[in-house]
Amino acid sequence: MQRAQKWRTRAIILSVTAMLMTILSGCGGNEETKEKPTAGEPVSKQYYIFDTVVNIKLFDDPKAEEHLDHIDNLLKTLDIELSRTLETSQLYKVNQEAGKQAVEVSEDTMKVLERSLDYAEETDGLFDPTVGGLVDLWDIGHEGAHVPAPEDLQRELSLVGYKDVVVDEAQSTVFLKRQGMVLDLGGIGKGFAADEVAAYLRAEGVKSALVDLGGSSIIVIGSKPNGDSWNVGLQDPDSSRGTTMGTIRLSDQVIDTSGIYERFFIEDDVMYHHILDPRTGVPSQNNLKSVTILADNATDADALSTFVYVMGLTEGLKYIEDLNDGTEGMFITKDNKIYVTSGLKDTFKVTDEQYTLVEE
Ligand code: ADP
Ligand code: MG
Repeated sequence: MQRAQKWRTRAIILSVTAMLMTILSGCGGNEETKEKPTAGEPVSKQYYIFDTVVNIKLFDDPKAEEHLDHIDNLLKTLDIELSRTLETSQLYKVNQEAGKQAVEVSEDTMKVLERSLDYAEETDGLFDPTVGGLVDLWDIGHEGAHVPAPEDLQRELSLVGYKDVVVDEAQSTVFLKRQGMVLDLGGIGKGFAADEVAAYLRAEGVKSALVDLGGSSIIVIGSKPNGDSWNVGLQDPDSSRGTTMGTIRLSDQVIDTSGIYERFFIEDDVMYHHILDPRTGVPSQNNLKSVTILADNATDADALSTFVYVMGLTEGLKYIEDLNDGTEGMFITKDNKIYVTSGLKDTFKVTDEQYTLVEE
């Protein structure tokens, strides 16, 4: 697995639980559009991409406007490369040509796909970028979503199989061996996009910025203009977006959450959400509300949060603990218990009495 160097551990103060995250810049300001900054105010912009709201904030940067325009183009390009549903996208073309022929893809698409396939190998298919057919079938988050007929489920399940993805690096092509196979990079794409934005900003010498993709992938660059580390607000998984229940202090780090309350439907008292178990074709059924990963890059953090959810609490905790590269995890169960990996233990504080930190 490709992993970067250890992320710098800073004092992390987690006041409470988390699934969705919002940025607490402490600076207020209008986040809707690019605003002329007054002293200390960020220049920020919202973009709608990957089905989510992307929020970028730059502080004290004379070239902020230019950067935000560049990021706009960068995100649009990534969407055209990585979207499964956009008919003009590379991925769409790869899926259209499944079972027929190889399709040329960009370097970005190749990178994300290869990382996905690495994780698929590593997890024995718990993370599998060929779950696209199942994602379409379940249609979670869209109106009319319901439990599919068993024969439809079996058909789509039989089309899942990362080993049938043929990557030709020299030709820069991707070929899906069987007709009907569908690639979906939704479990990792947002993280990759966040990393690309952060890499651009760092290369431009930006010292202080926040990159927030839909609240689930957040990167902080540098520290606040006054030198303090950032406060990232954490929301209760049960609450609607916007209720900040606690904070985590970050500097040059990434935090990524996968949870079941973001997109779901309930049928016969069972909750069906958007993280699928590729062994069954059904949304993973376990006792977790959410998994949050802290790491040094968002691509890994995004994939990790998705498949560690599928692993479940015991196996997932062990997996993150065993990584030994500074990656940390926080797991929240449906009965409001919080489990953290050892790197978060000393600094983790629960302030909401609904939740209990489990100390082992
Ligand atoms: P988000 O941050 O967008 O809410 P996650 O990072 O939690 O999403 O990943 C969920 C998405 O990943 C799903 O919407 C689907 O596109 C894809 N996905 C679901 N299950 C798997 C899986 N087992 N392996 C790989 N990708 C998956
Ligand atoms: Mg993810």
